[in-house]
Amino acid sequence: MLVQSITRGRKILIPKNKERDKILLKEAELFVNAVNLYIREVFSWIKDSEFVVKKIDSHGAIILVGNNEYTGPSGGTFYPTTHRKDGTEFPNPRITDTSLKTLFEYVFERYECEQSHALWKANVIAHAGTRISTTYRRFTSNTRKIKLTDYIKSTVRPPQLRNITLAHKKILMKHKDGKLTMQLANRKSLEINDFEIPQKNYDIHKDSFGGNLSLNMKKNQKNHSYTIQYACEKRFHPPSGWVGMDINKDKNFWMTLAEDKEDGLSYIIPKPETISDIEKKKNEIDKSIGNKNRKAISSTIRSKLRKEKKLIENKYERAIREQVGYVIRFLQDSNLGLGLDGLSLKNNYSFGQEKINKILEHLCIANKIAYRNTLAAYTSRDCYSCETRKVKRVKDGLPYVCENPECNKFQVGEVTHINAARNIAKQAKNGFLGSAITGGSTSHSEDSTLL
Ligand SMILES: [Zn+2]
Repeated sequence: MLVQSITRGRKILIPKNKERDKILLKEAELFVNAVNLYIREVFSWIKDSEFVVKKIDSHGAIILVGNNEYTGPSGGTFYPTTHRKDGTEFPNPRITDTSLKTLFEYVFERYECEQSHALWKANVIAHAGTRISTTYRRFTSNTRKIKLTDYIKSTVRPPQLRNITLAHKKILMKHKDGKLTMQLANRKSLEINDFEIPQKNYDIHKDSFGGNLSLNMKKNQKNHSYTIQYACEKRFHPPSGWVGMDINKDKNFWMTLAEDKEDGLSYIIPKPETISDIEKKKNEIDKSIGNKNRKAISSTIRSKLRKEKKLIENKYERAIREQVGYVIRFLQDSNLGLGLDGLSLKNNYSFGQEKINKILEHLCIANKIAYRNTLAAYTSRDCYSCETRKVKRVKDGLPYVCENPECNKFQVGEVTHINAARNIAKQAKNGFLGSAITGGSTSHSEDSTLL
């Protein structure tokens, strides 16, 4: 068996309550304001600095190219950190999140949370770092290739959080004797003992954790929700090969699976008419519910529409599950691992990508089928065989033709979606094997070989 660590999310529902909502809203606003100001300050500091930023990591640490002294945002000369606490050397020098906390103390002073728990501040820096990285990734995947430093220096309006949210990356929630305790910015804490867990069979697995709070401001909703992120180990059968899956707007190539192998097998599920019909119906209902001219629809009709929407959503889910079932059987029969395209920005959920991926992930875990979510940005522009990248996207409906004379596929047309699926498969295989651990009590000798 192959063991893989996977991040899962579980929801905790927090009922609305006037007094508590005030506290939660204030806490979330403080968090969003601190993150936003910090991002703006970091951008303007990097713009004025000489150092080159290679990366911002998940703690918000700024990884540098080169080891030169630098000037802090409020003046003063500093040196990057080159070694870990245990004395080992970092691959690249960095400005750690702890240093950043000190350098940007004025951000916390501005919101009167300089006395906050160190973890609370670390959390602001970590969340800001993640926000900068994801915005940068989205920017570069849009055909532009630009280094992180240059991206920051050329950006006039730094990314900002718009929704009121609260992200706890670090341990700021505690669970004890059936009560949750949230550590707040002002060093006080908030106790929550009327929470609910919607999933049966799930119990909060840890004494302390982080997660994301999303405040639900809609009047007809009863709860806010807090999503716990946790890592768990899952076991998978070692696959004898990998396929990638590309989900497309083009009905004929709706779900396209192709092997990580030149001229390897491919498997295509065109979008069934029944599903197109359900989608059409769903959009119509959404349109009438969302009709801006609210008076045009009475509340009785509106609630009828909502019921209808629920029914159609269930129908949609069942129809998708049926199609996904074929994919799972195909993977089992051929003993293949599955690569999913986790980069959903190009597709906007309009043809079920998010839904399909979610169901597939669950079924893969349940059936111990190796899978991997990839964040492959150029799958439709890179040649699978020689990895040459096209300057432009291939136009819809046209085949992918490689123009590299040294490539096995030179001037040979390949279905663009199949080429993309093969790229996803390649990435998934590398990512999965790069992080999988062999072993487990049920493993046989032939199982413990990485294929
Ligand atoms: Zn090629």
